[in-house]
Amino acid sequence: MPTFRAPRGTRDLLPPERRAFARLERIAADLTARYGYRPIETPLFEQTAVFERGIGEVTDVVEKELFRLAPRSDESESWALRPEPTAGIVRAYVQHGMQTLPQPVKLTTIGPMFRYDRPQAGRFRQFWQFDVEAIGDPGPAVDAEIVELGLRFYGDAGLGGVEVLLNSIGDPVCRPAYVAALADYYRDRASLLPALERDRLDRNPLRLLDSKDPAMAAVNAAAPRITERLCEACAAHFSAVQAHLAALDVPFRLEPSLVRGLDYYTRTAFEFYLPGREGQQQALGGGGRYDGLVELLGGKPTPGIGFGIGLDRVVLALDEQASDRAGAADAGGADAAAPVAVVVGADPEATADRLRVATSLRAAGLAARAELAVRKLGRQIEAAARDGAHFAVIVGDELADGNVQVKDLQAGTQKVVAVADLARELTRAHGAHRHGVREQTPE
Ligand code: AMP
Repeated sequence: MPTFRAPRGTRDLLPPERRAFARLERIAADLTARYGYRPIETPLFEQTAVFERGIGEVTDVVEKELFRLAPRSDESESWALRPEPTAGIVRAYVQHGMQTLPQPVKLTTIGPMFRYDRPQAGRFRQFWQFDVEAIGDPGPAVDAEIVELGLRFYGDAGLGGVEVLLNSIGDPVCRPAYVAALADYYRDRASLLPALERDRLDRNPLRLLDSKDPAMAAVNAAAPRITERLCEACAAHFSAVQAHLAALDVPFRLEPSLVRGLDYYTRTAFEFYLPGREGQQQALGGGGRYDGLVELLGGKPTPGIGFGIGLDRVVLALDEQASDRAGAADAGGADAAAPVAVVVGADPEATADRLRVATSLRAAGLAARAELAVRKLGRQIEAAARDGAHFAVIVGDELADGNVQVKDLQAGTQKVVAVADLARELTRAHGAHRHGVREQTPE
């Protein structure tokens, strides 16, 4: 056992997995740019009140899962690591007066989130989210546009079978009466409720609807449905969202028990869902409208909507789908750091020569590595092949005449090339190989 390990619930993203994340980051960046979202970066921690007020105190995320930072005696503020990005982004929107910009302000971010949750498969204490927020548009068209964007992300990533679950959770006009009816329903069945849920019943009955406790499933199946009690404005909004989704050919399924874990949501709530995986791991992302949040965090009343997509689960699901398909590429795609060429040589003293040749190749834009270890030439060439290199550049006595030997590790051929022509020659041969053009060069 090593002395130190990554903290419980966290993991090291080793290069193949980091590459899979980087690929998703590129897809997200491409996609959001096309939809007019601009990147934003907010701190990984905020004043605790930003989350307590924004997300709500009687939520799993704040009540049980918030990573609070121990205050130092000389500082009176209390901080917590962000469990989700929306509250921090809306705090920034208010702080920087973004209400004066053309609305909606469309923002996107990608980064780690922190929840002090019980670690298990697909549930980590540090995980990554790709997030978009459109602040300042009351919808309903933008609601559908955002759901379509989220679904397209999975498609571009190559993940099949993702479904959209959709609900409306009303607004301050219609929700209070619904919540009261729901509380009555649960009170009549109090003896069936687990202790934690009974405890929350008086404080936030809506939370019981999305309880993860299996004992709640039967009780919840027959609970009153908010969509049957929406006020006129919310009902019109909800049906317009559905009409826009249909116009965009986005399939969705209505899910009346979907309330999302956070207090700030109003009206549209949605989740991206991959059936067939274990429990919570099926939830690949989710979002919703938060028309009260800007005001809660000190701004003028401003509507908003957004989603957070969990990248860890997308990478896991991509790996699963890839291993279901024989011979499929891994989730990361090609290894960009695999060298095109490795510069090798038999003389253990000639490391400067090998570095110089490698440096000139890199300056010309090629991925090149110099072999600096003291070992036999044959071993160096074997290691280059194992590293995925296309060429071994052998630096030896010919260097005095300005030449090196180039061994094509894939074709098994070898020839003399002038150092002055090396970068051009390798680029041409590597490019031709990649595009499948047959080489005609005489030996
Ligand atoms: P939520 O706001 O809780 O619905 O989170 C949005 C998405 O982030 C979820 O659908 C998951 O994909 C991901 N996510 C949330 N919590 C975790 C966690 N503890 N570990 C890994 N992914 C998570």
